[in-house]
Amino acid sequence: MQTIRGFRDILPEHISLWQKVEKEAKDLFEAFGFKEIRIPIIEKTHLFARSIGEVTDIVEKEMYTFADRKGDKLTLRPEATASIVRSYIQHKMYAADPVRKFFMIGPMFRRERPQKGRYRQFYQIDAEVFGIESAYIDSQMIFLLNELFKRLGLTGLSAHINSLGCPDCRPDFQKALLDFLESKKDRLCENCLRRMDKNPLRIIDCKATDCQEALQDAPATLDYLCNECEDHFATVKTTLEHQGVDFIVDKSLVRGLDYYTRTAWEIQTTALGAQSAVAGGGRYDGLVKELGGPQTPGIGFAIGFDRLVEVMEQIDKTPQIPGLDLFIVSLGDAAMEKGYHWSCELNQAGIRTEIDFRAKSMKALMKRANKFNAQYVLIAGENELTQNAIILRNMNTKEQVLLAVETLVPELIKILKK
Ligand code: ATP
Ligand code: MG
Repeated sequence: MQTIRGFRDILPEHISLWQKVEKEAKDLFEAFGFKEIRIPIIEKTHLFARSIGEVTDIVEKEMYTFADRKGDKLTLRPEATASIVRSYIQHKMYAADPVRKFFMIGPMFRRERPQKGRYRQFYQIDAEVFGIESAYIDSQMIFLLNELFKRLGLTGLSAHINSLGCPDCRPDFQKALLDFLESKKDRLCENCLRRMDKNPLRIIDCKATDCQEALQDAPATLDYLCNECEDHFATVKTTLEHQGVDFIVDKSLVRGLDYYTRTAWEIQTTALGAQSAVAGGGRYDGLVKELGGPQTPGIGFAIGFDRLVEVMEQIDKTPQIPGLDLFIVSLGDAAMEKGYHWSCELNQAGIRTEIDFRAKSMKALMKRANKFNAQYVLIAGENELTQNAIILRNMNTKEQVLLAVETLVPELIKILKK
């Protein structure tokens, strides 16, 4: 039996980086006032089609959609924003306080061609903020991402930012774009041609080399911003400058989802070949209303957890397997019974203790202690029990002390907690 293509196990020897990232992310989110939310893995297909947009790569080609036994169309979540917005509306969170900040960490599902940094089940660290129109939240989200990556020891990342405008300035831009596209029609791929009517903004994002060349001089949203959008973007930029966050204004960055307005950004790396984006985000001031809630601004980002870990692995290749505090060598039935109780009590006290219940020889057990890289070994055989002198050996210094059975656990805790 094998995993499905594009799905994978993350094995214990690789987990330490995942846990490190989760811990740093949670600490940082909490400090910035974000609350964790957990959302279902499956939702009605309609939710994603409506929020992400029918004419997008995700909805057109990448979703795992199926009919359940009653024929309802369901989809494995390809991203988190839609569900978090649904939750915000469903529980009328806006009524008590429209300003809410959420984060979630979990798997997403997209059926794309698997390759390095691209899987069919992948993980995202996602953050969303509702109810704040101020540009300070835009800069704060980018600042937060930057801070997280800094704490994780990542360098060589660059933040690409752009403004996509709003429903006020979008129509003028769209007209200019359509005129331009019309003139390049013979050089665009079939996919782009199909999108011309439905979602022309997405064409700018086409990965095909021919299209990219044809689109080099395409009009940019930045050149069509209304005054409000212009001011908003200016605040984002100056704030980031004052905070010393490096960024590049990237006119061609549009991002894959329909619902973005104003600030959009991507954090890119050169470390992963073609899969250059480790995080992406943007403002979506129209989405809450679009999905049936009151007009509420929103903004969020998603970090590609798998890609982030891959970048970190390139920096720090040594797997950090935490060693063992103590290995108990119990020889004989009586010592095994004692050893069992000692090990449970030490585990309870938070001391990493292992014992082998398989009744092996002294030699085999010492070998195992070494394999685990145990700091101390406790040796308890028939003799040690009758003489009430259990041996504790420091594996680094080779020093030994003798411990009495009655006070063994508290003594060990004292020594090992140091
Ligand atoms: P890409 O252009 O690489 O397909 P995207 O625009 O589809 O990315 P988003 O929807 O913005 O991706 O998701 C945010 C982040 O999630 C991405 O920047 C990326 O790091 C990660 N991500 C997206 N799809 C995958 C995938 N199939 N496997 C692993 N990570 C992914
Ligand atoms: Mg994609």
